[in-house]
Amino acid sequence: MARVFVITGPSGVGKGTLIRSLREQIPELELSVSATTRAPRPGEADGVDYHFLSDAEFQRQVDAGEFVEHATYSGRRYGTLRAELERRTAAGSPVVLEIEVQGARQVRAAMPEALQVFIAPPSLEALRARLVGRGTDDPRDVEARLRVAEEELTAQDEFAEVVVNDRLEDAVDALTRIVRAALDQAPRR
Ligand code: ADP
Ligand code: 5GP
Repeated sequence: MARVFVITGPSGVGKGTLIRSLREQIPELELSVSATTRAPRPGEADGVDYHFLSDAEFQRQVDAGEFVEHATYSGRRYGTLRAELERRTAAGSPVVLEIEVQGARQVRAAMPEALQVFIAPPSLEALRARLVGRGTDDPRDVEARLRVAEEELTAQDEFAEVVVNDRLEDAVDALTRIVRAALDQAPRR
């Protein structure tokens, strides 16, 4: 009965790229805007790409129980706001969360009905090339993300669905098929 979709996997594997294409295929799918304490990258807008929060504000919202899940990733905090998710599900929209593995585990515990898809790279070398090619993280950050990635890749067996993002079009097709099949089984009430 999945109307909430968790897309997880290492940084740079192509989650954001895949979700953009997925939403072109299935326009009713809405993306939950996460909160983070990291700085905006050039071109990122507050409230669109993330809700950019100070450490103090993030902690205040943790203490107030406003997060469905939250995690520290590469020294920064990230989390899914309950209000973001509930506003969309209450309106009947299927929702996608793009989150890292620790957060996906928390969602699995809190919302076992959510469908979780792990996006895997064809190889660690390909992942490195994508992180470097994206050009948004300095070399130290790329290395830190790759160290986390090695750990995250060992977790992929935990996930109901795994899609290898080798050829982008194939991965988009696979992900779209998975989400369509779940929505067909759990139509809007
Ligand atoms: P994530 O959201 O998982 O961090 P992105 O969607 O930002 O990853 O993708 C990281 C980089 O890899 C981007 O520059 C993107 O264009 C590129 N990319 C995504 N999918 C593929 C693919 N199948 N083959 C080659 N490059 C890809
Ligand atoms: P980035 O800094 O590249 O935008 O994101 C770093 C990592 O944090 C990515 O793996 C991304 O999926 C993850 N992330 C983004 N939003 C959230 C969130 O709300 N919760 C969790 N747990 N991870 C998130």
